[in-house]
Amino acid sequence: MELSTGNNQNNPGGSTPRLARRQAKPKKTVVSINGIQIGGSEIVVMAGPCAVESREQLLETAKAVQASGATILRGGAFKPRSSPYSFQGLGEEGLKLLSQARQETGLPVVTEVIDPRQVELVCEYADILQIGSRNMHNFPLLKEVGMCRKPVLYKRGMMASIDDYLLAAEYILKQGNEQVILCERGIRTFETSTRNTLDLSAVPVLKRLSHLPVIVDPSHGTGLRWIVPAMAKAAVAVGADGLLIEVHYKPEEALSDGPQSLYPDEFAQLMEDLNKVAQAVGRKIARLVVNH
Ligand code: PEP
Ligand code: MN
Repeated sequence: MELSTGNNQNNPGGSTPRLARRQAKPKKTVVSINGIQIGGSEIVVMAGPCAVESREQLLETAKAVQASGATILRGGAFKPRSSPYSFQGLGEEGLKLLSQARQETGLPVVTEVIDPRQVELVCEYADILQIGSRNMHNFPLLKEVGMCRKPVLYKRGMMASIDDYLLAAEYILKQGNEQVILCERGIRTFETSTRNTLDLSAVPVLKRLSHLPVIVDPSHGTGLRWIVPAMAKAAVAVGADGLLIEVHYKPEEALSDGPQSLYPDEFAQLMEDLNKVAQAVGRKIARLVVNH
């Protein structure tokens, strides 16, 4: 089988091993977090606010997404904002709140790390380290997360081709960290009716080329609350192993990404609909078994 995206850059450097590729590892990688398997037969839904803003905001949102069936809590403590004048996140205080939310809900947490000097700190609190779109090519950061033994949710750069993306993933894998989850989060195109263009064809392409799990972020992929449910369902239909969805208990008061954050009741409805789509493609939405 020819595993190529069409151009000739799949193996620059001739016989250099490409750890992200199926040729290197024909068996699918399954990333395991407290019994939740990403890349297996079940679809894992990660949900929560864009940024951790306060104890109340995080806890209320966490409880709501858990009640609807999300299995991993998202929330940024260090935010890579396009403008330095925008809310930058609560930092370590935000990490502590994520820990409390995990304790209260049993949900593992995914949170972003934006600076190689903070990897150790974020590792102390997070179950999954997120590398954001703006840092897809931050090689020192990739090497640093490659050296730690936490799963990495690694987002595609907004202007990166699939080949660029899989090649840069080598920086993490080469350090010995094989627990990498790929994430399509929308790319820049000439289209302006959505914040980004969610490249859903990247899902089957990535799954064909790589053994790594592939999830989709329809929130940043579209930037618009009303489109998120449709694209989330489409992502499951094209074979995504999971979803990353922004939910806020009061989106109109959110300090970041309010316009793309679902209200808790919209998220609850989406989870019901996703079950049906998952079933139609022979899969199930993962559920959390909490042992208190
Ligand atoms: C986020 O997940 O909040 C985020 C900043 O995403 P991205 O890196 O895809 O813009
Ligand atoms: Mn966001």
